Amino acid sequence: MYCFIEILKKINEYLLLNLLNMLNKREFYINGKWINPEIKNDFEVINPSTENPIAIISLGTNADVNLAVSEAKKAFLAWSQVDKKEKIFLLEKLLKIYKKRWNDITKTMSDEMGAPLDWSSSAQTSSGFDHINDFIVRLKNFQFETKFNENSNNYIVYEPIGVCGLITPWNWPINQITLKVIPALAAGCTMILKPSEIAPLSGIIFAEIIHEAGFPPGVFNLINGDGEGVGTDLSSHDDIDMISFTGSTRAGKLISKNASDTIKRVCLELGGKGGNIVFSDSHSEAVREGVRNIMSNSGQSCDAPTRMLVEKSIYKRAIEEAADEAKKIRVDVASKKGNHIGPVVSKIQYDKIIDLINSGINEGATLIAGGPEKPNGLDKGYFVKPTIFTNVNNEMRIAKEEIFGPVLTIIPFEDEDEAVSIVNDTSYGLGNYVQTQDKEKAKRVARKFRSGGVYINGNTADPGTPFGGYRQSGNGREGGDWGLEEYLEIKTICGWE
Ligand code: NAD
Repeated sequence: MYCFIEILKKINEYLLLNLLNMLNKREFYINGKWINPEIKNDFEVINPSTENPIAIISLGTNADVNLAVSEAKKAFLAWSQVDKKEKIFLLEKLLKIYKKRWNDITKTMSDEMGAPLDWSSSAQTSSGFDHINDFIVRLKNFQFETKFNENSNNYIVYEPIGVCGLITPWNWPINQITLKVIPALAAGCTMILKPSEIAPLSGIIFAEIIHEAGFPPGVFNLINGDGEGVGTDLSSHDDIDMISFTGSTRAGKLISKNASDTIKRVCLELGGKGGNIVFSDSHSEAVREGVRNIMSNSGQSCDAPTRMLVEKSIYKRAIEEAADEAKKIRVDVASKKGNHIGPVVSKIQYDKIIDLINSGINEGATLIAGGPEKPNGLDKGYFVKPTIFTNVNNEMRIAKEEIFGPVLTIIPFEDEDEAVSIVNDTSYGLGNYVQTQDKEKAKRVARKFRSGGVYINGNTADPGTPFGGYRQSGNGREGGDWGLEEYLEIKTICGWE
C-alpha cells in the first residue's frame, strides 16, 4: 500500500513538473550512479530572461557530502595508479562526447545564466572545449618523474594530491568546470564537483558526459548545493585534500578559514576590478573596444576592464565615443540569436548592481549612458542597461567594489605614473589592460601592473596560459601545466638509481 502511494506521488509530481515545463534534476551523481539525496531539499533554478523556474534541483546536506567523499576516497586508490595512456584515452573520448553535446550545453547555459545563444556557443561552450583539448596535450607531454640533475641519484616525482572539492560559479559555468575537473582527472585525483546552485544544469550535463566516457565509478562525483551547506562541508572535510574554488572574494575568505583546520591545499580564483589605461596614442578603436569588452557577458567576468583610465588630452573625445558605443549595445532575452547582451544572472545580482548604479549617482559621478531603469520593453527579466559613469574618482563605491554588471567607470589621468597607481590602488589584482601604440610604454606599464594577467591593445590569452590573481583576487593558477600542477604533490626520492 505504502509503495503504491509513493508511486502515485511520483506520477503526480512528474505530471506537475511537465505541466510547468520544469526539469526534475534532483539527483546527484555519486559512485557512477544517479541517486536521490538523503534529505529532500528542493531549490528552483530560474531563467533570468523570463524570471520563470526551469528546473528543480536538490541542495545537498552533510550526509550526501560524506557519501560522495567516501566513494571518492575509495576510488582514489585505483585511479591514482592508472597510467597516462588510459587517462588520455578516456579524456579523448570525453572530448568527442562534449562535441556531440555542444548544442545542449550551449542552450542550457543560455537558459540558466542568460548568455545569448550565439555567444553562449562561441565563447562559453567553446572555452570548455579548448580547456579539455589543451589539458590532453599537457598530459601527453607532462613528465611525472624527472631526474633532479645529471649527477644526482635523486628523483622528483609528481603524484595526485588526493580527493578534491571543486566549487564553481555561475558566470562562466562550463569554463570553470573544465578548468578544474579536467586537470584533476589528468593528475589522477578523484573529486566532488559542486556547481553554483544558480546555474547548475550545465554541470549536470557535464556529469552525463563523464559517465558516457566511462570513467570508473567514484572518480568524479557531483553534488548540488549552496555555499553555506555543501560548500562549507567540502571545505572543512577531513578526507578532502584540496579545494579549488572560483567565485567571490567573500566566499574565498570563508573557504580559507573553513579549510584551515585540515591544512588542505586551497586554490582560489576570486574577484577583480580591472583597470584599462587608454593613452592618447592608442589606436582609434581603443575606447569602443574597452566598452564592448566590459559589457560582454553583461559585465559578469572577474577579469573585465571595469575602470577605464583615459589620458586627459583625449578625455572629451573618449567619453563621446564611450557613450555612443554603449548606446549601440542591444540588450535582449538570451534565447534570441544575435550579438546582443542578455540579463544578469539573478534577482540578487540585479539588486546589487542597481544599488551600485544609484550609489554612483548619489556620490556625484556623471551618468553618460544607461542608468538604473530597465531597458525599454524588458520589464520582466533581470536586464540592466549598459551604463557608463564619468567624473569618477577612485574613492567612490563604483570605482572600488566589484559591480559584476554592465557598468563602466571612466577616470581621467595626467601621466603614466598616476594611471598605474590608480589601477594598482585596489585590493584586487586579476586582469589589467593597456592601450598604446608605443610598444616600450606598453611593456613598461605591463610590468608595473600588480595583476596575474595583462592585455595589451586588445590581445587575448591563448588556451593553456596560466590564469589567476595577485592579492585578494586569489591564490594559484588555472590552465596549462600550472593548472595541472595545482592537483599534484611533489615527492623527492633519494637513491632512486
Ligand atoms: P559566490 O562566491 O557566493 O558563489 C560562487 C560559488 O561558491 C557557488 O558555487 C556558491 O555556492 C559557492 N559558495 C558560496 N559561499 C560559499 C562558502 N561559504 N563556502 C563554500 N562555497 C561557497 O558568488 P555569488 O554570490 O554567486 O556572486 C557574488 C559575487 O561573487 C559577484 O558579485 C562577483 O563579485 C563574485 N563572483 C566572482 C566570480 C569570479 O569568476 N571570480 C564568479 C562568480 C561570482
